Amino acid sequence: MSDKRRIAVLGSTGSIGTQTLDVVRRHADKLEVVALAAGSRVGDILQQAQEFNVACVALGDAACVSSPEFEALKSTTVQNANKLKAQGTSSAEAFCEVGPEAVVSLVQLPEVEVVVNALVGAAGLRASYEALKAGKVLALANKESLVVGGDLIMPLAKELDKARRSAGIAPLDAPAGSLMPIDSEHGAIYQCLLGENEREVRLLWVTASGGPFRGKTKKDLLHITPAQALKHPTWNMGAKITIDSSTLMNKGLEVIEAHHLFDMPYDRIEVVVQPQSAIHSMVEFSDGSVKAHLGTTDMRIPIQFALSYPERWDAPVEPLDFRTLGSLEFAAPDTDTFRCLALARHAGTVGGTLPCVMNAANEIAVATFLQGANSYLGIAACVEAVMNEHEKAGVQQVESLEQLEVLDAWARAEALNHLTRPE
Ligand code: MG
Repeated sequence: MSDKRRIAVLGSTGSIGTQTLDVVRRHADKLEVVALAAGSRVGDILQQAQEFNVACVALGDAACVSSPEFEALKSTTVQNANKLKAQGTSSAEAFCEVGPEAVVSLVQLPEVEVVVNALVGAAGLRASYEALKAGKVLALANKESLVVGGDLIMPLAKELDKARRSAGIAPLDAPAGSLMPIDSEHGAIYQCLLGENEREVRLLWVTASGGPFRGKTKKDLLHITPAQALKHPTWNMGAKITIDSSTLMNKGLEVIEAHHLFDMPYDRIEVVVQPQSAIHSMVEFSDGSVKAHLGTTDMRIPIQFALSYPERWDAPVEPLDFRTLGSLEFAAPDTDTFRCLALARHAGTVGGTLPCVMNAANEIAVATFLQGANSYLGIAACVEAVMNEHEKAGVQQVESLEQLEVLDAWARAEALNHLTRPE
């Protein structure tokens, strides 16, 4: 086996996935892609498997077996497995499977060391869970894993931290790094906390760009179209997260994510709008000092840090030039107009199964908005209605993946119900 970090990229054809592969191209001496998973883009994953000599691939959508390119993909994995065996770099058999279970099997493969989870939505939770359970380092872009299943994921990450420390493969005087956030805000907070005593942390400041509709009123937002909401001012991302950024639900999900990742109560996590996105987040300490993380808005930097930790590697990105940056603005978020942030904070504070239900309802509300079957302001209304139903029925403590999957399905059905019900 090579001494490179052997990574599996889940969601390899999406925005974070392709940028992860960019990072691998830049650091081919340190990183090696050994497994790829995507939803249904067989042609794209075939190209990736060819370029990176990957012998193990999974497609979440079972219908992919009937795609005309599937046979080519299958034979590519066999050829690559033979090539790797001949080179002596890997003795792994080829793996080319479809369906949600295939993605789980992929992360459990012995040759996988680090799992980059860039799947979209709650579908990523099981992969995160199984990756940590199988002892793999988890580089997490799928924030829903923590929003929905933080109560299950964090104990697994702590256990793996312990195991990696006692095996001598993790730093002893710094975070062990079993769970590395890829989200730029959490990557920033992670770095601000390095070398600090957690008892001296007073507050986490999660920064928000404010999205394309910053400063708008509810009335202005009545007739927003998907095309308008898909134009993010600073970050280049996938459709779901871009809509979530515009409604501030993304920031709400990130507050819950920060709560789990950094074991911080909700009254010590604040959101501040920083429209230039130059400050990626901040940590305030007990003496009033604040550490901020700044950098160019390029997702490849947080992705790379998640893969290089505890080291830092060079990155050929345009550095921030403070002489031309101009002013940095700050403002409180408008949670009256952007209800989703308040809803997410409420869901997080109540905890248990409420964030799971909120997230599932939001996924449906956003998908229907993108299809033109729901209005922009209808997103928050739908999420709130489904959350109310769940609170009436009784929020539960999180006990298992199966319990969360049942509630997730219930919330999706309830959201669709809400959208088709006459007002
Ligand atoms: Mg983010």
